[in-house]
Formats: sequence, C-alpha cells, structure tokens
Amino acid sequence: MYKYDPKSLVADEFINDEEIKDTLRFADENKDNLELIDKIIEKAKLRKGIDHREASVLLACDNPQKLDEIYALAQQIKKDFYGDRIVMFAPLYLSNYCVNGCVYCPYHAKNKHICRKKLTQEEVKKEVIALQDMGHKRLAIEAGEDPVNNPIEYILDCIKTIYSIKHKNGAIRRVNVNIAATTVENYRKLKDAGIGTYILFQETYNKESYEKLHPTGPKHNYNYHTEAMDRAMEGGIDDVGLGVLFGLELYRYELAGLLMHAEHLEAVHGVGPHTISVPRIKKADDIDPSTFDNGIDDDTFAKITAIIRIAVPYTGMIISTREGQKVREQVIKLGISQISGASCTSVGGYDHPEAEEENSAQFDVSDTRTLDEVVCWLMELGYIPSFCTACYREGRTGDRFMALCKNGQIQNCCHPNALMTLKEYLMDYASEKTKKIGDALIEKELLKIPNEKVRRIATEHINDIENNNKRDFRF
Ligand code: SAM
Repeated sequence: MYKYDPKSLVADEFINDEEIKDTLRFADENKDNLELIDKIIEKAKLRKGIDHREASVLLACDNPQKLDEIYALAQQIKKDFYGDRIVMFAPLYLSNYCVNGCVYCPYHAKNKHICRKKLTQEEVKKEVIALQDMGHKRLAIEAGEDPVNNPIEYILDCIKTIYSIKHKNGAIRRVNVNIAATTVENYRKLKDAGIGTYILFQETYNKESYEKLHPTGPKHNYNYHTEAMDRAMEGGIDDVGLGVLFGLELYRYELAGLLMHAEHLEAVHGVGPHTISVPRIKKADDIDPSTFDNGIDDDTFAKITAIIRIAVPYTGMIISTREGQKVREQVIKLGISQISGASCTSVGGYDHPEAEEENSAQFDVSDTRTLDEVVCWLMELGYIPSFCTACYREGRTGDRFMALCKNGQIQNCCHPNALMTLKEYLMDYASEKTKKIGDALIEKELLKIPNEKVRRIATEHINDIENNNKRDFRF
C-alpha cells in the first residue's frame, strides 16, 4: 500500500490512488457545503491557486450561482494573468511509426491499414516552409514511439532542420516536443537542441485503466510514463506540459490526478507545469470515440477548464483543433492561453494534402479554418493573436517565467511582444481584411503599455517592421 507524498519520486505516491478516492469522497460530501465552497472561492480570489481537494469540491458542486462565480473568477484570472493575448502554434507530425498499443490512438502497432510515414529531412524542410508560409513561428513536434524508426537522433535531426530554415521572412523560433517518455540523457539532448516545452500527456492518471488502455509496448509502464516529467526536469528541461485525454477515465479522477501532478512538480522542482492541455478523444482511422464510456459534454469541459484556470493561475492552457470553433470560443474566455490553428495531423500533410487511401492522420480535426481565418476571428472576438516566442529565447523559463507573471511585468513584456509579432504576421501573411483589423488593434493596444519607455521602443519597432522590413524584435 502506497502512502500519498507529493514530494516522492514514485508515481504511486505522488499520484496516489487512495488520496484521489478520498478526495472524491470528500468532494461528494461537500458538494452542497456552501460555506466551504465560498471559502475555496475566496482563497482562489487571492490568485495563488487552490489544491486538488479544493478544486475537486468545486468540480462536484452544481449550484448554479456558485458555478457562475467560478466562471466569473476564471475569466478575471485569465484576464489578469494573460490579458487578451492568445499564443498561436501548430503541430508538426514527423512520423506515425509506433510500437505501442494505445487503444484510443490509430497509430497503435496493430493498425495495419493506416499509412505509415516518416518524414525525411528534405520533407521536414517542405513542411516547415509550408508552415512558415502560413505565418507560424511556434511548433509542437509529434511522433509515435518507435526506437528503430524514430530514435532520439532522428528527433534531434528534425529539430535542427526546423530551426535552420529561414524562408522569406519566416522562421520557426520555438519547437515544443511531444514524444514518448524517455531517459534523462535523452531529455538532456532535447534541452541542448534548444526545445521549448516538453509535452507529454498522461492520458489517464488511473493506473489500472492506464494499463488496460496501453496493453502493449513501452508505454504500458505507468510509472515510467508518470515519472517522465521528473526525468525531463533532471535533464534540464524546466518547461513541461501536462494533459489528460478526456474521455478515457472519469473526469473527476483525472482533474484530481492532474492537479496532484502539478503540486508534485512544484513540491519537488519548485516550479509547476508550464502548460496544461485539455484534449478530448476524437474520431480517427480505426477509433470510434463512442466506444469509450467516459466522454464529457461541452458544459463539463468548460467547467473543467475554468477550474484548472483558477487552480493553477500561472500555468498556460492549451486547446487544439480537436475542438471546433464554438467550444474554442467558450473555453478561450474561461482560461485558454494558447491555441493551434490550421493544424494538420497527418505526416507530411502541410506540404501536400493526402488522398484518402494514403491516410496517416492521428485524428480528425474539428476546426478546419485557415490560420488567417483563426487570427481574424480572434481579433473580432477582442483577443490579440500572438506569435511571440521571446521567453525561452531570453532565458525566461521555469521559475524565471513564473517570476515575470508574479511581478506583474506581463503587460510591459508579453503585451508588446504580442503586438510586434502580430505586426510581423500582418505584414507577411495576412489577408487585407485581417491586416486592416490587426493594424487598428495594434494602434489601440500600444497605448495600453504602462511603461513609457517600453511603449516608445515598441512603437519604433513596429514602424521598423512596417517600413524597414525588420523582424524578430523582442523584450
Ligand atoms: N507518442 C507520443 C506519446 O506517447 O506521448 C506522442 C503523442 S501523440 C502524437 C499526441 C497525443 O495525441 C497523445 O498523447 C494522445 O493523448 C492524443 N491522441 C491519441 N489518439 C487520439 C484520438 N483518437 N483523439 C484525440 N487525441 C488523441
């Protein structure tokens, strides 16, 4: 029997099944305890977060008035910490060769009819050019787990290729990596290759379900997977991204596990997760989401997003094109700070769309709009699409990034960076309509930079981007 200990390095102790079950019992007992719920909401208003037990009580609560308070607070925290900025990125699938047996993923090894593809460096280059030509500056690279076809050396070569390509005014300035759990040595190599965030979804925190959902392959090992972020941090990567695949297990169990994982990282490494992603299972080649019993509806999904937002205010939240426009609009308001746009989940699909018989996609995307449409839509909703990648390039990772948030310097740093990178996008890639809306937005937003010197410099840089073809300014 394992004992709950957030400081332990053993998965069963920091994600402790007994503690989660006890938390859920406590949440059930207190779901109508308005006095406690008010206390938790008051604590959350201090903007220092709430723990997995407190968050679980809010998640169990179905009092409409209290839920409205939770949503209002999530929106306020989102606004205070992230302003109106939404950071843009795209996934880049390198290879769908995979030796695992994940039952929800069409890349599982037994799928004999999906088309297996692995990009050559020449193909990586073509994909990157296609992504740069849309306006992307930040990528998340994705690959199946296959030590023979996708060894770490292959991933490192791809990262090198991606960073080396400067097509027209384009550049990929930040490569985040979503590959299977690996060794400290390999994480160190990724760090040395200049990656941004290392992202690994837990899929589910329930060990028993995890083992059933990953019946074969190295990913079957729950502890090795769950302890990956500790190894990544030991290897020098201090920005890590968590996530669960909603639909696999009971969402209340997952929220408690997710927050316990964040608490563990904070307790051991002094810094919580850089991002949390909230993917839901989607239809894919031989995957039918309705065969999974734990699917969550859009309202529950929004509730989870809002509660994560108030539980870990300093952690960015990511939503992908797995979700359609309507859901994205709803959850962006409640806490999401980063979204993908114009994503393609097939291997090589940016450079040339696939014919049906050569399908290599991981799942069907719901938001199929172009990047220009997404950028324009965000601005029409009052957001500032940002292509900023400054923080990690300026060494502001891990606790140094958190310090920036905590010192309230975001408005003097992230805000002008967002405006300058948006200006680059407008000059190089936007449609006439988007450019017009964007230019008006930038003019208005420049006035909101509090520090006079920063405001003046940002204005000069934006002039240089417009008139002197200069690029890549950052604070
Ligand atoms: N192979 C790596 C791993 O094991 O973590 C890379 C991750 S995979 C390319 C990215 C993520 O897609 C997975 O972690 C999983 O959560 C998600 N995914 C897999 N199948 C999915 C599906 N049918 N619908 C939605 N998301 C899915």
